[in-house]
Amino acid sequence: MRAFTYDRADSVEGAVRGIAGRPGSRFVAGGTNLLDLMKADAMRPAHLIDISRLPLDRIEETADGGLRLGALARNADTAYDERVSRRYPMLSKAILAGASPQLRNMATNGGNLLQRTRCYYFYDSATPCNKREPGSGCGALVGVNRIHAILGASEHCIAVHPSDMCVALAALEATVRVVGPGPGPGGGPGSERTIPFAAFHRLPGDAPHIDTELRPDELITAIDLPPKGFAEHSTYLKVRDRASYAFALVSVAAALEIADGTVAEARLALGGVAHKPWRDEEAEQALAGKPPTGESFRAAARILLRRAQGYGHNDFKIDLAERAIVRALAEAAGTEAA
Ligand SMILES: Cc1cc2nc3c(=O)[nH]c(=O)nc-3n(C[C@H](O)[C@H](O)[C@H](O)COP(=O)(O)OP(=O)(O)OC[C@H]3O[C@@H](n4cnc5c(N)ncnc54)[C@H](O)[C@@H]3O)c2cc1C
Ligand code: SF4
Repeated sequence: MRAFTYDRADSVEGAVRGIAGRPGSRFVAGGTNLLDLMKADAMRPAHLIDISRLPLDRIEETADGGLRLGALARNADTAYDERVSRRYPMLSKAILAGASPQLRNMATNGGNLLQRTRCYYFYDSATPCNKREPGSGCGALVGVNRIHAILGASEHCIAVHPSDMCVALAALEATVRVVGPGPGPGGGPGSERTIPFAAFHRLPGDAPHIDTELRPDELITAIDLPPKGFAEHSTYLKVRDRASYAFALVSVAAALEIADGTVAEARLALGGVAHKPWRDEEAEQALAGKPPTGESFRAAARILLRRAQGYGHNDFKIDLAERAIVRALAEAAGTEAA
């Protein structure tokens, strides 16, 4: 691990002021991802600003009937919050499918959104990786790519986003609230903006080292959930190599609104298949107006996967994703997968 300096922020304003003046700095929240990456020499911040004691750990009702999840609320506290588990069960399930109890007790919501890919080559500083070292090449393209992307990849990077929580947040159409160093409502630093979840994470294109639309000097303060939680008909299905403590090979957040035996609205997001949680509105629309049957679930899965491409070791993911989508939709609908 390389030497770095460290400060602890005592206010949101102080945190954004501190990072604005110091390029190469990073916030640290639970530290469960950033410190591992620093130990592996995959990230080299010169300065850390500890935000773990900022008052951003609450879960609160919003004026429109939704919920605001503080960026520093722990993953465990979020998943077990009674309002989250009752109104957004798909989100609770997704969080609890991730990591281990000890990690979820430490990991924060903001950090979960910004955790970096688990591509082996990204962690191995002896191999080329455009995400770690722009312009150095991609070890996974010609190497072992069993866990890599089948959708939205580029010739520069075929990594996937590893988060479970983010897949459910994409299906729920959450919004990310951030503050930056521009003038805020009180006159000091603290300009605010919101980013729709669909626009938060990026596809790799020719700049795979940039994971999100968040600027380096911005702090996530909260994640807003809209009132609609699809509590009656939703699920999160995670397919992985071990029953627990493993990242998703493929995961599916499926949510349906069913009225008079017909799907009125559908939301479908996949994890483990792309550089960001993958949603496809055409696939969702294909479900609308149809009865919740295996036939319509399969048709939606095929639409979602129509541009899927494997890179050799991960070809199996295309078939796996189709089956996982059909099973998750059947589980959400409360029917048997046909
Ligand atoms: C062994 C292991 C297994 C895991 N398995 C899973 C799994 O199966 N599924 C899953 O989804 N996750 C898994 N995780 C990942 C875990 O969920 C993340 O490490 C965790 O959510 C990161 O949160 P943190 O608060 O510790 O972030 P940190 O490590 O503190 O920070 C991560 C990044 O976010 C930035 N950051 C943090 N908070 C903010 C903020 N408020 N504003 C701006 N920037 C911020 C930091 O600068 C850093 O770049 C696993 C982790 C480990 C170590
Ligand atoms: S897939 Fe992306 S993260 Fe992995 S080696 Fe290639 S460039 Fe790096």
